[in-house]
Amino acid sequence: MNFSNFYKKQFTNIYVIRELMCNPDVKQVLSVLDTIPVHIVTSKEEIPDSDMHQHTLFINLPKAPIAGRCPGSKGHLCCNYLTIDLYEGCTIGCTYCIMKSYLNFSPVTVNMNIDETISLILRWARENPDTTIRIGTGEVGDSLLYDPLFRLSEIFIKAFSPFPNIYFELKTKTNFVDHLLHIRKKGNTVIGFSLNPPKIAGEEEPFGATIGERFEAAVKAVRAGYNISFHFDPIIRFPGWEQEYVKVVQNLKLIPGEKLAWISLGTFRYTPKLKGRIDSRWFLFDEFVPCKDNKYRYIQRRRRGMYKIMKEAIENIHPDVPLYMCMESPAMWEYIFGEKPEKIDTLCTIFKRIKRCS
Ligand code: SF4
Repeated sequence: MNFSNFYKKQFTNIYVIRELMCNPDVKQVLSVLDTIPVHIVTSKEEIPDSDMHQHTLFINLPKAPIAGRCPGSKGHLCCNYLTIDLYEGCTIGCTYCIMKSYLNFSPVTVNMNIDETISLILRWARENPDTTIRIGTGEVGDSLLYDPLFRLSEIFIKAFSPFPNIYFELKTKTNFVDHLLHIRKKGNTVIGFSLNPPKIAGEEEPFGATIGERFEAAVKAVRAGYNISFHFDPIIRFPGWEQEYVKVVQNLKLIPGEKLAWISLGTFRYTPKLKGRIDSRWFLFDEFVPCKDNKYRYIQRRRRGMYKIMKEAIENIHPDVPLYMCMESPAMWEYIFGEKPEKIDTLCTIFKRIKRCS
C-alpha cells in the first residue's frame, strides 16, 4: 500500500500546535502530507467550526499526561484497564461507534506529549511491581490506523519493554502491523484485533480491514514475537449470527494459545445520543433495555444466550485463554462464569486494580 497517498486522502486540513513545528516527528509527518494545507495554532479553539470534522488532522500538545483509568460503566464490572489517549477519533467509520456520541464533531487528534506520559506510566509500573498494568491506546480511536504515519507506538513499546508488569495493547480494525515487526525488544506488547463476522465488518466497519486481513496480520505479528488479543465487541445479532460468529471463532486456531494474552466479549450497546445519530440501522430493531450506565443493551435473556455460545466456542479451541466480558453486570458474571473475575484464576491478575494512579 502507498501510505503517503492513503493518508493524503484522509485529511483536507492540518492544524498544528506552534511548539510542535520544530518536533522532528511532526516535521516528518508534514513532509509526507506535503499537499495538505497546514495551519499553526496555539489551541484547539482556533480551529474554525467549518474544519471541526474527521477530515481535519489536529497535532496537539496537551498540558497534562494523556494516560488514566478507563472510566468504566456505572453498575458494571470494570476490568481496571488503563488508557492512553494517543490517537483520538478515527476515520474507519463504524456505524455503531460509541464515540459518535461525543467525538463526531472533532478533528482526528494526535496527542504528542509522549515523554511525560511514558514517565507517568513507568512510575505506576515501579510503584506497583506485583500488579499487571494493562494499558492501551485503542479506547478513543484505532491504535494503528495512523501509526504507520506517526510511528508513536514504537516509542511506547521500547520504553515499556524492560517492565515485565506492563502489558501494552494496540487495538485495531486495520492490518497495519508491518511497521512494528522489526522492533527487537517488544516486552509484553499485545496487538489486539476487533473481530466480527464478515457481514458486520463489511457493512458496519466500512474502512476497516477484512476479517481475513486482520487474521493474516495477527499471524504475522505472532511470527515477529508479539502477543495477540481479540475483541468480539460489539457482538450484533442478525439471522444466523450464531453460525457466523462461531465460524470467525474457528480462526483462533491460527494463533497458539500461549501467544493469546486475552479475549474479550461485549454485546452491542448504545447511548440514547448514539441512537439519535444512527437510528436507521437495522440492528437497532431488536429488544433492548436501559441499564444503570444509561446505555441500552440486549435484554438479559438474549445476552446470556449470546455469551454462552461465544464462551463455549472459544473455550473449545483455547480452554485456558483469559476470557472476559466488557462492561457487564455482576449478575451476568455469576451466570456465565459462575464467579466474579477476581475469583477466576486466569483473570484475577489482569483485573487487579493498581494502587496509585494519579
Ligand atoms: S475503529 Fe473504533 S474508534 Fe474507529 S470508528 Fe470504529 S469503533 Fe469508532
